[in-house]
Amino acid sequence: MTTTCPLYTKGLYIEKLNASEAQVSMCCFQTSSRAAYTNINFDNNPYLESLRNKSSTQDKIKECEGCWQNESIGNQSYRQGQIAAFDQLGIAVDGSTDLVSMTYNCQNTCNLKCITCGPRFSSLWAPEYKKLNLKIALPKTIKKSYSLNNRCYEDLDFAKLRLLHFQGGEPFLTNDHENLLEKAAQDGSIQNLTVSYNTNGTIFPSERTIELWRQCHMVKIFFSIDAIGKQFEYIRFPGVWSQVEETMLRIRNIGLHNIWIELGVTVSLANVFYLQDIIDWKNQIMPVTNLGDAVGMYINFTGPVGHGGVVLDLVNANTVLQQRILSYTATLTDHNMANSIRRYIKNCQPNNDWIEYLDNLDVLRNTNWRTSLSQLSDKSLASNL
Ligand code: SF4
Repeated sequence: MTTTCPLYTKGLYIEKLNASEAQVSMCCFQTSSRAAYTNINFDNNPYLESLRNKSSTQDKIKECEGCWQNESIGNQSYRQGQIAAFDQLGIAVDGSTDLVSMTYNCQNTCNLKCITCGPRFSSLWAPEYKKLNLKIALPKTIKKSYSLNNRCYEDLDFAKLRLLHFQGGEPFLTNDHENLLEKAAQDGSIQNLTVSYNTNGTIFPSERTIELWRQCHMVKIFFSIDAIGKQFEYIRFPGVWSQVEETMLRIRNIGLHNIWIELGVTVSLANVFYLQDIIDWKNQIMPVTNLGDAVGMYINFTGPVGHGGVVLDLVNANTVLQQRILSYTATLTDHNMANSIRRYIKNCQPNNDWIEYLDNLDVLRNTNWRTSLSQLSDKSLASNL
C-alpha cells in the first residue's frame, strides 16, 4: 500500500517564472516541474499527471521527500497537516481529480531580506547575495523575471476550490491575491473559500482585499514572526518591530467575522534561544483574535531557501551548543515546540559556517549579531566555536 496525500489529486502549487510562464507541483514542499507552463490545466498537466501515476504505484515518491523526512523524525509533515485540514472541512478524498487546494506564489517581491532567506523568495536579497559571493545556486529552471501580469491561472476551474493560500515574497505587495479572489468572486466560488496568507506583517491589506475577505468562508493570516524586538530586527532585516507589531494588531482588529490568526515561527540558530520571548509576547499582547479565538502558533525549521537557511539550520549545532539548546527547550512553556526541537536536533552535524556568514552580513548591513543575538553569541562563544 502506498503512502498517500490528499494533494495528489486535489492540490496545485503555482510558482511564476515570468510574465506568462509558471512551474507547478501539488504543494510548495514538493519538487516543482522542470517544464514551464502558460495556461495551467489542472486535470491534464503532464507533470501533475506523471506524479499522480507514480504515486498510485510507488510508496513515498521522491518528489515529496520533505514530508517523509519530517515524519521520520516524528514531526508533523505538511501532508499530515493537509489530511487534518481536509478532514476539518469535511472534504472527501476520493479518487477523482478536482482542484480543491491551491497555493499561489505571488512572486518574490519583498521588503525584507531575512537572514535565513535568499533571492528566490526575496527580491531585496539579490544585490547582497552577489556581494557575499554565495555559492548556493538556484535550481537551473528558475530564471525569474517580472511576472505580475502572469494570468496562467485564468482557465482554472474554481468550482470545487476550498483552500486558497498565498505566499511570496510578501503577498500584500502584489495584486495577485486580489486578482485571484476577484476571479473567485466572479464565478461565485469565493463564499466556499478558506483563503490564507503567509505575510511578514509589515503591510496592512487594501480596502478591496478586506471587502473580498468579507465574502470568503474564512480568512487565515499566518504572521511570519521569528522573534520580537531587537532580535526580530536583526533576523527580519530591515523590518521595524514596532511597526510590525502595530500592523499585526490592526489586522487582528479589522472586525471581520471570519478571521483566524496564527504566528509562524521559523526556528534557526539565530532565534532558538529567544523562543520564549515570542510565546510571552503572544500570550500578553495578542492571545486571541477579535472573535475571541486563541491565536495559534506553530514552528518550522529553516531550509535551503537561501544560504542563511542552510548554515543557520539547527542541525549545524556542535555538541556543546546542542546541549545548551536542549537545556533551553526544557524551560519553554510550549511543550510541543520544545519536543519538536528536541527531535529535530537529534542528528546534528556540527558546522560553524554560520559564524562567517553572520560576520560577513554584519559588514554589509552595519549590524552586529554578537549584540543583537547576544544569547547565541554567549552560548556559542562559551562552547569554543
Ligand atoms: S510534499 Fe507532502 S504535502 Fe506535498 S504533495 Fe507531497 S506528500 Fe503531499
